[in-house]
Amino acid sequence: MYVDSHCHLDFPDLACREDEILATMAANRVGAALCVGVKLEDFPRVRGLAERHPRLWASVGVHPDNADCEEPTVERLCALAAHPRVVAIGETGLDYHWHQDAPQWQRARFRTHIRAARAAAKPLIIHTRSAAEDTLRLMREEHAAEAGGVMHCFTESREVAEAALALGFYISFSGIVTFRNAKELKEVAKIVPLERLLIETDAPYLAPVPHRGKTNEPGWVVHVAEELARLRGEPLERIEQATTDNFYRLFRHAQGFHSGPASALQGV
Ligand SMILES: [Zn+2]
Ligand SMILES: [Zn+2]
Repeated sequence: MYVDSHCHLDFPDLACREDEILATMAANRVGAALCVGVKLEDFPRVRGLAERHPRLWASVGVHPDNADCEEPTVERLCALAAHPRVVAIGETGLDYHWHQDAPQWQRARFRTHIRAARAAAKPLIIHTRSAAEDTLRLMREEHAAEAGGVMHCFTESREVAEAALALGFYISFSGIVTFRNAKELKEVAKIVPLERLLIETDAPYLAPVPHRGKTNEPGWVVHVAEELARLRGEPLERIEQATTDNFYRLFRHAQGFHSGPASALQGV
């Protein structure tokens, strides 16, 4: 059984296809998916998915790309994270690609999330783009290692991966690793220790080959696992088992179906 460690099923392209998406997950042996929050205003929809479906989990956070939205406080994040279906804080982090002025509010918001994750004792989901140096610096300054977490949709260099691993973080690969031109990333995928590896879709974005360009969905996370197995020269079953075990170890508040019989896939 696979787990999609990061998707956005509340986004409009996917929200209208809930039953179909869950059916594709079951058909592809994707036993669970983590629905990641990007705005407090949208969080009730994310939480609703996790409340309706035992195979879906939720996180709470405000994405660094969202400039005009409710600003979170540590107290507010902790209160929302106390819900039993909320297993992580994020996504949070820094994105200087879309905000080339490297705004101060992104760093302040990132610090707030790290403090909330430590206070709530739930792991962090970190997004970083064109901001690796500041991301790692803030992780160190705010003691993010105490909460732990994942560098999601990883696209950075081997050096950044090694720095995140040294802080105890997991590295999650998306459909980007299946793209032919992602040569440097394919090399990074070979050096991440098996026990720190996660897979994700980031659906509706970044559909893996052979679905590239389409609206992505959690059932297709299998193609990310297949590419990792190929690159690392490991059996697919090993990648499947390790990434699922890693998911439930990191997001320890999620209760898995992963150790149950395959028949557990039916009946939801
Ligand atoms: Zn992201
Ligand atoms: Zn995301």
